[in-house]
Amino acid sequence: EASTLSRIGLAGLAVMGQNLALNIAEKGFPISVYNRTTSKVDETLDRAHREGHLPLSGHYSPRDFVLSIQRPRSIVILVKAGAPVDQTIAALSEHMEAGDCIIDGGNEWYENTERRIVEASGKGILYLGMGVSGGEEGARHGPSLMPGGSYQAYQNIEDIVKKVAAQVDDGPCVTYIGEGGSGNFVKMVHNGIEYGDMQLISEAYDVLKNVGGLSNSELSDIFGEWNRGELESFLIEITADIFKVKDEHGDGELVDKILDKTGMKGTGKWTVQQAAELSVAAPTIAASLDCRYLSGLKEEREAAAGVLSEAGLKDEVGFARSGVDKKRLIDDVRQALYASKICSYAQGMNLLRAKSVEKGWNLNFGELARIWKGGCIIRAVFLDRIKKAYQRNPNLASLIVDPEFAREMVQRQAAWRRVVGLAISAGISTPGMCASLAYFDTYRRARLPANLVQAQRDLFGAHTYERIDRPGSFHTEWTKLA
Ligand code: NAP
Repeated sequence: EASTLSRIGLAGLAVMGQNLALNIAEKGFPISVYNRTTSKVDETLDRAHREGHLPLSGHYSPRDFVLSIQRPRSIVILVKAGAPVDQTIAALSEHMEAGDCIIDGGNEWYENTERRIVEASGKGILYLGMGVSGGEEGARHGPSLMPGGSYQAYQNIEDIVKKVAAQVDDGPCVTYIGEGGSGNFVKMVHNGIEYGDMQLISEAYDVLKNVGGLSNSELSDIFGEWNRGELESFLIEITADIFKVKDEHGDGELVDKILDKTGMKGTGKWTVQQAAELSVAAPTIAASLDCRYLSGLKEEREAAAGVLSEAGLKDEVGFARSGVDKKRLIDDVRQALYASKICSYAQGMNLLRAKSVEKGWNLNFGELARIWKGGCIIRAVFLDRIKKAYQRNPNLASLIVDPEFAREMVQRQAAWRRVVGLAISAGISTPGMCASLAYFDTYRRARLPANLVQAQRDLFGAHTYERIDRPGSFHTEWTKLA
């Protein structure tokens, strides 16, 4: 009888679920699928048939679905995060038994996963919160997977996830992340880093276009060239492609016709909130979130462009442009982008470390960099260098003080400052690059003006201060002495 049962089940057949189910089936694991709206079950069955008679069986009720899976059952849920996950768990767990396992693959808030781990354990059900990255393509052909929670549950599906995940030179892009909601948390920070990368790339585009005067076709060539060097990554690659796409409804390229308002779903905001909660500076990621908010104020920005003198700005751009050596600008922007990106990753990794310490997750940062090398949106050649940096020193205080990265940062400083300076004088905002540079300059300074802030705090609030030359804590009656 066991041979007629599926090896695994998947509930929730929207974009991600459908594609992940087909991927699992294609790797040779018979899978049962279910969706609340049953037309999606038929759609998935159709695709499984068309894409090569894959071993996939469709079910139209939670009970039939659950009973079609071999025990101990492993069931992946890919529905909208939040209440839909609770509702799906309620519908399925009614038919599940002790030792079975639920794997939520959505972009879930990590605390929801931690609550569900406890609730599930009441019924003897094991639970994993598994970040899935790579969008539709990744889900279908190899995502990066970040499973956290019950280690036993992970072991039950290890053979499957290792085959389903993207494969890179040093293995499949999956590893057991840690206990509790660690898999969801790591996925959240991955998305925050993704926000930063996209912001920095858009700034590079802005400077090259509006200061360098590059055309879309030149931009496509430059990004294509960058994709053959140290910046080689999925986001740089797709950017090169985007500039080539013509507008079907008019002249020129589609990119110029797209409204400049960025959407978002919340993981970037959560990353910045968590950074604040944990007292970790993440200015590049925060700048990218702020930029999404500001981009949403299209009408206000149009009004402000009039009030705050577009004409004057044009003079500045003209001035900046006239002194620009295009070739040098392109090379400088490449270096500024790379250096800014390292700072952004340093922030993301330090946020992960702070959370790991707080929760006792014992995260392995080298492994995290490794499983991001393929499948996910931030996949990039340079993640291998991050992996090696943490292998050299698992307790690295910051990526930017790793000897190799430090050397690269120092080499790129001059170009980085030229780009940011030029952008500022041209009135072109580069908040991500500026935030990264300020982060770098703040972190590498042995003495900051924080002494003055401490003096002020002590003056108005008797908050006391420490001295550089003797131990202890001090308070001064500042106004009597002034
Ligand atoms: P989605 O649009 O987030 O969700 C649609 C799915 O949720 C449908 O199967 C829908 O069922 C189900 N659903 C909604 N409310 C429900 C409820 N109350 N009870 C039962 N089922 C309910 O789908 P998605 O884009 O495929 O994403 C799934 C998860 O993966 C999300 O957490 C998302 O954030 C995450 N994710 C998405 C991407 C991506 O590129 N799209 C990438 C990584 C991660 P019906 O058909 O019955 O409405």
